[in-house]
Amino acid sequence: MAQAQKITPRAQDFSEWYNDVIMQAELADYSPVRGCMVIRPTGYRIWELMQRALDDMIKAEGHQNAYFPLFIPQSFLAKEAEHVEGFAKEVAIVTHTRLKATGKIGAGAVTPDPESALEEPLVVRPTSETIIYAMFAKWIQSYRDLPLLLNQWCNVVRWERRTRLFLRTTEFLWQEGHTAHADEADAEREARLILGMYRKFAEQWLAMPVITGMKTESEKFAGALRTYAIEALMQDRKALQAGTSHNLGQNFAKAFNVQYQTATGGQEYVWNTSWGVTTRLIGALIMTHSDDFGFVCPPRLAPTQVVIVPIWKSDEERGQVLAVGERIRTELHTAGVRVVLDARDTVKPGAKYFEWEARGVPLRLEIGPRDVAAGQAMAARRLGGKGPVSLAELARVVARTLDEVQAAMLAAALERREAASVRGVTKPEFLEFMRTGGGFAYGGFCGDAACEVAIKEATAATIRVLPDDEFRSREAPQTCMWCGKPSLVEAVWAQAY
Ligand SMILES: [Zn+2]
Repeated sequence: MAQAQKITPRAQDFSEWYNDVIMQAELADYSPVRGCMVIRPTGYRIWELMQRALDDMIKAEGHQNAYFPLFIPQSFLAKEAEHVEGFAKEVAIVTHTRLKATGKIGAGAVTPDPESALEEPLVVRPTSETIIYAMFAKWIQSYRDLPLLLNQWCNVVRWERRTRLFLRTTEFLWQEGHTAHADEADAEREARLILGMYRKFAEQWLAMPVITGMKTESEKFAGALRTYAIEALMQDRKALQAGTSHNLGQNFAKAFNVQYQTATGGQEYVWNTSWGVTTRLIGALIMTHSDDFGFVCPPRLAPTQVVIVPIWKSDEERGQVLAVGERIRTELHTAGVRVVLDARDTVKPGAKYFEWEARGVPLRLEIGPRDVAAGQAMAARRLGGKGPVSLAELARVVARTLDEVQAAMLAAALERREAASVRGVTKPEFLEFMRTGGGFAYGGFCGDAACEVAIKEATAATIRVLPDDEFRSREAPQTCMWCGKPSLVEAVWAQAY
């Protein structure tokens, strides 16, 4: 690996810092295709760990995985009016099926063969409601077929003009759940169940606190009745939507004629939900926890949880520390810890520390000749704190330390979020808050979209959610923070990614 480069400090340029952290930790890279990224092995391992954890949670609630085509007939997208409006401006379209040589040289050497033009163009899925509900219409006949609970892990394409690694890329990976229910209450229960699942996943695995709540009409998913979201606050005090769950009502069922026979013999349209989280979560993870030394990864999602760095001068010492290092590696591996022994003799220990710190490894074990003699290792936490650990108790202490680090990261992130939140703001306070760094601002909202527009124009802040009970202020606001009319509901504003 190349000598570690300097990481731009967060305070100097958060956006540069973010890119530096990704590059140093080798999580992703820019690709020859503009707006698309390459997820490198370390970044992809994090995604695999996320996938495994969340997939288990999804299945535990009775959902099954399936796979639907990448291509969607163009006409399908036009069937649900709001949906087409929401996605029309960012879809990739396949119009031809083969190329033809032109006889020219270079970039113009081939051109789409006009004779291969598709009768109906195909859209590369920006999301799969349309194709999935077209299939649901075929599979659902009776109330006995409900609920139908499916999920798919796949890629989607949305033609973004401004892209950022992990946060906004033209192609990204995600899971999209799609369900059909007999009535509104069951669909609503499902949408809320998934929201709770996403929250649990964010807190327990990403160590990332989130606010749950409902989106306003202007922020909801195109084609949904109601959209729920989990919202996190990054270290630069900008909000990040980390997952959404939609009650789609009967909009798609009517567009795709998904009907079922009721127990009494009548015909009814089903109620659908859809929900997803994406590789954007890796960006959220980076911006929630990392520091000026590089990536910080919560232990449960760390590709490498523990790195062992042996320290020696003579060949004799080398033999000793490597033997102990290998024994520890095996012991920890057997205990289920993702552990690496960095035995390279071309890199000095100090440079190794630097490198593994930038890669976000939560715990480092240093073993020198004196440690071997004392039957111990020096344990250094990525976020600070160092001390000797007896080799006899190592596996137990490592497991406990990783749990402690995971819990401490969630607590620290929660503290940062609360320090960057204000409640019961007045208009002047709100303007000042957004002008001086921002964060989550709780205040009264009259429900008028015109206020949302005016606030966005003045401050770039949007309503992230109408928060659920648990997150609401003890005293309900009486007036709209912006226009002073009676408040219908409390809202949380922030500038967002
Ligand atoms: Zn208002």
